Amino acid sequence: MENKDELFRILFHTGEARESYFGAVNPPVFATSNFTAPDVQSLRSRIQDEFRYPFYTRGFHPTQAIVRQKLAALEETEDALLTGSGSAAIALAVISVLKAGDHAVIPTKPYSWTHFLFHTFLARYGVSCTAVDPTNAQNYRNAIQANTRLLYLETPNSMTFEITDMQAVTSIAREKGIVTIIDNSYSTPLFQQPARWGVDLVVHSATKYLGGHSDFVGGVVCGPKVLIDPMFRNDFMVLGGILSPENTQTLLKGLRTLDLRMNRVSETAEKLATYLNQHPGVQKVYHPFLPEFSGSSVAKRQMQRASGLFSIALKAQSFEEIEQIVNRLNHFFLATSWGGYESLVFPAAAFRETAENWDMAIPWNLVRISVGLEDADVLIRDWKNALEANG
Ligand SMILES: *Cc1c(COP(=O)(O)O)cnc(C)c1O
Repeated sequence: MENKDELFRILFHTGEARESYFGAVNPPVFATSNFTAPDVQSLRSRIQDEFRYPFYTRGFHPTQAIVRQKLAALEETEDALLTGSGSAAIALAVISVLKAGDHAVIPTKPYSWTHFLFHTFLARYGVSCTAVDPTNAQNYRNAIQANTRLLYLETPNSMTFEITDMQAVTSIAREKGIVTIIDNSYSTPLFQQPARWGVDLVVHSATKYLGGHSDFVGGVVCGPKVLIDPMFRNDFMVLGGILSPENTQTLLKGLRTLDLRMNRVSETAEKLATYLNQHPGVQKVYHPFLPEFSGSSVAKRQMQRASGLFSIALKAQSFEEIEQIVNRLNHFFLATSWGGYESLVFPAAAFRETAENWDMAIPWNLVRISVGLEDADVLIRDWKNALEANG
């Protein structure tokens, strides 16, 4: 989001009702499951619009209402729903647009549980899918069938950062009357606004950058009222996977520093990726804004910046070599997830016992790096030491 006046208005003001809680700069956590009405007529009207009025916390919650408005505004959409995890947000959005007999086109390497959702979970309910190489929008077009209802996007993806041309895919979808959904967790609305390119629903793992401190799991779905309203009534209230009031408050706290954190990790990741790119111990760097990365020109057209997540392929002969290098890092925790204050590494080698008969879609020598809030020099020195130590 280039307009900083607008950005800080949203992050610090939009949706807040400070006058109703003594002018407190932060809203209280409303630890309540239900809300009382002053009379029967008021109770009646609350039941009729559980989405917008305090009645029961599964449907509406004051802190949630604040954060919903902020996220909808950041994504330049009309409304948003918060869920108990990113996976819940993806499942909610996808389920809301599909029914038995429908077909979806998805990328070959989406987030792991998105892969499971389409290939295994939805198959049980009679929904089929075709996985395509998402770097060419024509592949989406070629996979469309008479019963295709959804084109699903994840650009960049979160392991090897393939880029999909959003505008090319949404123009195909428009032409055919098909809904599009994107997982925008990598970029956040600060660096990529999919609604501008015509994407209908934008989902997030709020666990990652939106929360930003690795202290809760949460998710978001943003979109137009014509899709969010029925999603609330038909799917959200049934699935019931809400973000708790406490975690909603934690998400709000994360949003206050979103701009600070995103620009910091973007800059640091670019420095570290540039350093690693020229290091003889590194075979390849997967960073969407490196000039030699395939897809970087599309990335630069549709994103303002790259975030703090990227991968490298190490010039190693064995798992042992990779393990030695990664184990030598002092400032990178060995853990899954990403987008927190702390720097992380995750080697693909952790997925299997051995590199023999490698069966995964990502290279065996891949190491994913999530850059945290440490100084760039600290992280570069750490990698230099790890790569250049003998034995
Ligand atoms: C982590 C992640 C998810 C799932 O989010 P959770 O909050 O862990 O459920 C979805 N998409 C991407 C790209 C992710 O990295």
